[in-house]
Parts: sequence; C-alpha cells; structure tokens
Amino acid sequence: MDFSSPKKGFPKKRCGVLGCTGSVGQRFSLLLAEHPHFELVAVGASERSSGKTYKEATTWKTSGSMPENIGELTVTLCDPQHFKHCDVVFSGLDSSVAGEVEDRFLKENIPVFSNAKNHRQDPSVPLVVPTVNISHLDYIKVQRESNGLDKGFLVCNSNCAVIGIVIPLAAIQASCGAIDGLSVVTNQAVSGAGFPGPSMMEMMDNWIPYISGEEDKMQPESRKILGQYDVEGKALVDRTDLKVSATCNRVAVTDGHGACVSVRFADRSKVPSAEQVKQAMKDYVSEVQKMECPSAPEKAIAVMEEADRPQPKLDRDAGRGYTITVGRVREDPSGFCDIIFTALSHNTVIGASGSSILNAEAAVLKGYL
Ligand code: NAP
Repeated sequence: MDFSSPKKGFPKKRCGVLGCTGSVGQRFSLLLAEHPHFELVAVGASERSSGKTYKEATTWKTSGSMPENIGELTVTLCDPQHFKHCDVVFSGLDSSVAGEVEDRFLKENIPVFSNAKNHRQDPSVPLVVPTVNISHLDYIKVQRESNGLDKGFLVCNSNCAVIGIVIPLAAIQASCGAIDGLSVVTNQAVSGAGFPGPSMMEMMDNWIPYISGEEDKMQPESRKILGQYDVEGKALVDRTDLKVSATCNRVAVTDGHGACVSVRFADRSKVPSAEQVKQAMKDYVSEVQKMECPSAPEKAIAVMEEADRPQPKLDRDAGRGYTITVGRVREDPSGFCDIIFTALSHNTVIGASGSSILNAEAAVLKGYL
C-alpha cells in the first residue's frame, strides 16, 4: 500500500495503540509507520506481552512486514499512566477488556478512538464511519461537557461488516431517497475473527454460516451511523425506521469482507433504476475527502462494471484499503426488493484501523485533537 499524502500545516501527533499485537493492532502499526503526521510512540497489550519488545511480543500475521522502527518499542500494560505522552490513543483491544480500559483512558482525559463493540451503542459515544458520518464527531463537545473534560473523548468506529451497508447507503440515499429496509448476506474474512482465528481444519474447503454476535450488530449500528442530530444538536437520533435483516458467514479469505445487499426504498412512487443508483455511488464525495484528510481515498466507493467483481484478492486494496468496491448493481427482477449489489471492504483498513486513523485526522482538522 502507498503512503497517505502529507498535508501542509497538519500538526504532528504522538499516538499509542492498545491491543497492538492483534489483527487490528498490527494493521495500526503498518498504517501509522507510513503516516506522514502520526507517529507511533507507545504500544500496549495484555500481561502476556507487557515488558517485551513489540518484535518479541508479536506473532506477525499481516501482509506487509512488521515496520522496523517500531519493533524495539516496549509493550506496556494498557494503563493510562503509560500513555500520558500520547496526543491520541487507538484501541484494538479485545472486547473482554476494552470497555473498562477505555473508560479509564476517558477519565484520564486522553482521546481514544476504539474498534471494540463495548461503547458503540452508548448514546454518549459517537459511532463514526469516516466516509459516512464524520459530522457526528462534533458530538465530542457534548461528551466533553458532560464528563468535565477539556482534551479527552471516546469515539468508536463500526463493526467491520457494517461498512458494506452504510457506505453504499449513504451514497444512494444522498441522491435517490431514503432506504427503509435491506437484506444482507456477508462473506467475512478470517482476519476479522482476530488472532489466532479459526483453525485450518475449520476453514479449508469450507465456510461457516455463523459468526457469534455479528448479525445482532448490523441493524443497531447502521441505524446509529445513518442517524442525525436532534434539532438542538445535543443528541444523536437513530434511523429507527431502517430495518436490516442480516446473515453473516465466515469464509476462507485472509482479508476483505463481502456483502450481498438487497435494498428497498421508502417512497414506492420514486424507486430509482440501477443506473441511477450506480451514478449516485460514482458521484458520492464524503466530507473527509472534501476536508482533504491525509488518508482520505480519492474515491469512497469504486463502482465496478465487470460481471464478476468485486473479488477480495483483486479489489480489497482499492484506495489503499480505504475505498470500498461495489459491483453487480442491478434491479431485483423478483420485485421483492428494488436494487441488489455486492460490496467489498478491507476489514482491517476501512473496517477498523484505517477508519480510526481517518476519524483522528478529521478530529485534528476540526480542532478536537
Ligand atoms: P485480536 O487479534 O484477538 O487482538 C486482541 C488484542 O487485545 C491483542 O493485542 C491482545 O494482546 C489484547 N488483549 C487481550 N486481552 C487483553 C487484556 N486482558 N489486557 C490488555 N490487552 C489484551 O483481536 P482483533 O481482531 O485485533 O480485534 C480487536 C478489536 O477490534 C476487537 O474488539 C474486535 O471486535 C474489533 N474489530 C476487529 C476487526 C477485525 O477485522 N479484526 C474489525 C473491526 C473491529 P495480547 O497479544 O497480549 O493477548
């Protein structure tokens, strides 16, 4: 993957990563090592890893070598006292500990961008997909006020499979009208399960039609991300009219989650054609692109015309993993839904670490960091 582009006047920020040894943590290391303005200065994980160098503590499993400059960093416990010198902390912690650890960082006035599920449905925590709802970052003001903080905050990004729904939906709804129902079937990569992940015996010649807890996240997270501020701008209101029916599968792919999505428009008198939906996705420009965030992709969505694309091996690295690819856009001949498409997203870039980094860049440009 190429470097993000430097941006004139963008300040340098010292970063920490919690859960540095895991699937998401390793992706943070790679993205931060290449970052023109963010420098990785502190890494934390469990007791198993603390006291070791990053090189010793980490079984490297991510495509691309471990960045040399961070191999000698000493892994600490995830205690705020070890991260006081960081301007921002990224969390790739296992959900068994993330909730409590992230609360402690918030109390210590340290800004945190989290990938864990624990706080995603907390009404006081913005859930932000950078190419969809970056305006929700402004909720940091309300969060700081209610916690008596001047520097710290907690912002989550979404579950990695939700990305395949909300980015296309944001684009389509911006020009074709509201969608109030969809059905999604996912094909999710093994890196999404964290390390060590499913065994070879489970995955070879196979797929698994169940991912614990995954389907339950699809509707509530989509509703929150696609929600709006109330009239006073003091609360985020979910899109409670949106119904999401989900089936999630684990497939033998290293990186890249697929989503086969069928959508239904709310206004039955104004159902767009497949061509109009494609055009809406081609024309979509998100706020982080307009703000020229250093890691923002040229395109939030790349629409593919080939009948057999997107495919994980060929397309997951589109836009350095920050672009999602969408293909097979077509009208539903059965009339059961209106439009069907297939989306592919890099689960540890735009689906996790890359989302946090792009959210952090936007937070810098908005003056929160
Ligand atoms: P993972 O590979 O299992 O990594 C978990 C990390 O948490 C490791 O660094 C581990 O450190 C650390 N950890 C575990 N127990 C700990 C403890 N008691 N104290 C401190 N650190 C502890 O998981 P992952 O796939 O990277 O996922 C990380 C988080 O991101 C999860 O909440 C996951 O749901 C979410 N997420 C994952 C993806 C994805 O595609 N993988 C996408 C979006 C969100 P040790 O090595 O020292 O045990």
